[in-house]
Amino acid sequence: MKRVELSNISKTYDKTVDILSNINVTIEPGEFFVLVGPSGCGKSTMLRMIAGLEEITGGTLKIGDQVANQLPPNKRELSMVFQNYALYPHLTVEQNIAFGLHVKKIKKDEQKKRVTEAAEMLGLTDYLDRKPRALSGGQRQRVALARAIVSEAPICLMDEPLSNLDAKLRAQMRSELRRIQRELNMTMIYVTHDQVEAMTMGDRIMILNQGEIQQVGKPIEIYNYPENPFVATFIGSPSMNLKKATYAREKNQLVLNENIAITVPSTETTTLPNAQYTVGIRPEHITMATEQTLAENRFEVVVTNVEVLGDETIFSFSLGETEWAVKWNGQWQIDIGDVVLIELDFAALSLFDSESDRLVKKSAKAGNRLERKEVLV
Ligand code: ADP
Ligand code: MG
Repeated sequence: MKRVELSNISKTYDKTVDILSNINVTIEPGEFFVLVGPSGCGKSTMLRMIAGLEEITGGTLKIGDQVANQLPPNKRELSMVFQNYALYPHLTVEQNIAFGLHVKKIKKDEQKKRVTEAAEMLGLTDYLDRKPRALSGGQRQRVALARAIVSEAPICLMDEPLSNLDAKLRAQMRSELRRIQRELNMTMIYVTHDQVEAMTMGDRIMILNQGEIQQVGKPIEIYNYPENPFVATFIGSPSMNLKKATYAREKNQLVLNENIAITVPSTETTTLPNAQYTVGIRPEHITMATEQTLAENRFEVVVTNVEVLGDETIFSFSLGETEWAVKWNGQWQIDIGDVVLIELDFAALSLFDSESDRLVKKSAKAGNRLERKEVLV
């Protein structure tokens, strides 16, 4: 199996503006790699360059040990599924799935075998004789998927393949796609603008903004330790709360506004050389103050909005111009205008340098670990 290696890749369409720049990443064989970012950030362009459908302006693309910049698409041993998966309306499902094999002059009985297997894997066996118009959106999407699978290309590229489906089907297809990728041991490069898809599907994800890599890593690492405020707000819902704060060295406090100043433990003061930081905290890390809460970490806030979602409650309060969200498990009877006593702990904060935007202090709240195996059985 071959890795896909991008070194210093750049792209411009008009020779003036770089749509992509400094793209350096290696996608490992068998990996489910997700490329995520807002609309227009260059995801499709990057995927199409890997596929050979778009010229590479600068840098080197390698597939395995071979430089692939000039390699024609059909020599790259990859398959591709687009958002608008075009099926041939006059062909049956079976013929649509087998279309590429037919073009490649694969023997009839081999074609049959692969189509039967793929149809079974995707629950399309009963629909092989139908025409695409007699299928639901989800079924059509699966036909497009089956077509990629029967090609048996070791590398599969997908560009927002689920975005035309309704929420329930999308959730179902997420896990189905992941299962198929594992079963076939494919290398998957998957483009989406949806951070939930990225978080749930990717072995690793790459976050792109305005043509530049923001961060590459395992989903949970990125969630816990976002390298800059863009990533912090892009991954996670509600977003990480952010606020520019002043570090008042003489009082050892990070001042968010006139009411809220968070005390910096004396052991941490040397790690804060500057006067300005962007403070970040995940909504679930703003907890309810209890009797154990240090007095200096307790703050009264006035609720400005509430959403009770059944299993969790989200409310917000304002910090000057910005609204901060708080997420608590379970159902809480909170109304707009209520005063709530919260705990804000320095340990839970992420701090970003206010000039470079780099993460300078990680949050210490990183989830739970099962200590003993017996807990699992
Ligand atoms: P994404 O898939 O992340 O939404 P795209 O890769 O499609 O973004 O586009 C990235 C940028 O490149 C956008 O600003 C888009 O307008 C521009 N772009 C895409 N295709 C072309 C093209 N063929 N000619 C000129 N500009 C293009
Ligand atoms: Mg796109």
